Amino acid sequence: MSEELFDLIIVGAGPAGLTACLYASRSLLKTLLLEKGPIGGQDLIENYPGFPGGISGYELIERIQKQLEDYEYQFLQEEVIDLQEVEEVKEVHLSSGKVLKAKAVILALGAKLRKLGVPGEREFTGRGVSYCAICDGPFFKGEEVAVIGGGNTALQEAIYLTKYVKKVYLIHRRETFRATSILQERVKKNPQIEIIVPSVIEEIKGSDKVEKIVYRNLKSNEKRELEVAGVFIFIGHEPETGWLKGKLEMDESGFIIVDREMRTSRPGIFACGDCVSKKFRQIINACGEGAVAALNAEEYIKNLEK
Ligand code: NAP
Repeated sequence: MSEELFDLIIVGAGPAGLTACLYASRSLLKTLLLEKGPIGGQDLIENYPGFPGGISGYELIERIQKQLEDYEYQFLQEEVIDLQEVEEVKEVHLSSGKVLKAKAVILALGAKLRKLGVPGEREFTGRGVSYCAICDGPFFKGEEVAVIGGGNTALQEAIYLTKYVKKVYLIHRRETFRATSILQERVKKNPQIEIIVPSVIEEIKGSDKVEKIVYRNLKSNEKRELEVAGVFIFIGHEPETGWLKGKLEMDESGFIIVDREMRTSRPGIFACGDCVSKKFRQIINACGEGAVAALNAEEYIKNLEK
């Protein structure tokens, strides 16, 4: 495969990358899709048009994968560690040592979960500390748990967890939430959710597994302990773009800067989805950006051939 020249290499097979692949393969571009690991998925997406009652992230991904079965493209499960440009050819370097070549590249790298960075977080991950309510919620039947964060994910997952747990303490560092109003209303109306603001977690404690958390109220500076069996952390995402530093223009947080056509600062390199610098990270705009990136990549490739 290493001697082949692809028209397009897409890095990342989340909603943005898969949509880009759908458009590219329908345009008959010689396309390679790369993904380093299992693709995560949001528990329930209620605002993706066309799915009354919502659809899980996993199912949405499965459906796009199924849709892709009708088209031709290659897929490799490998990690990309470098991107180089040799004149107009893009060289995609894999952790296995392979180097793949393409006329254009789409980066749909997604973003990884942000960690709190408090004592006990790493130690108790998998033993009470979790980043996934759908995966771990059922283990906390009848228990009390804490959810950390004030965005859409934290509020949505807090509500979801009340299906299993006795009580959720929703702890957020500010008095106002950035989550959408409908979720804020649902949280406030839910008798199983107690909101603790403006507060931050200082430590997660336990012996074998999580037993309590120490949190501090940022207004009164008062420290308190709370007995919980689980701590669910949903404090946003960080891009995994360190390996591209100095090669592409990025914002101060490391998200890739693109224009409306999903063009990065380098010709023939496009980016889309959660790894790009933007205000709203929604699956619907990730998919839209994937489509735009693929259409512009196609145009770029055709112009090369002129
Ligand atoms: P987010 O919107 O970035 O929110 C992260 C939350 O964590 C914020 O409330 C933030 O507090 C807090 N936070 C960040 N760092 C923290 C720290 N070190 N300690 C304590 N708290 C910290 O992340 P998200 O909720 O995961 O959502 C990611 C994206 O997906 C967003 O664009 C969101 O709209 C989207 N999403 C949409 C839906 C939906 O539409 N239904 C569902 C899920 C996610 P501050 O507010 O003080 O900054």
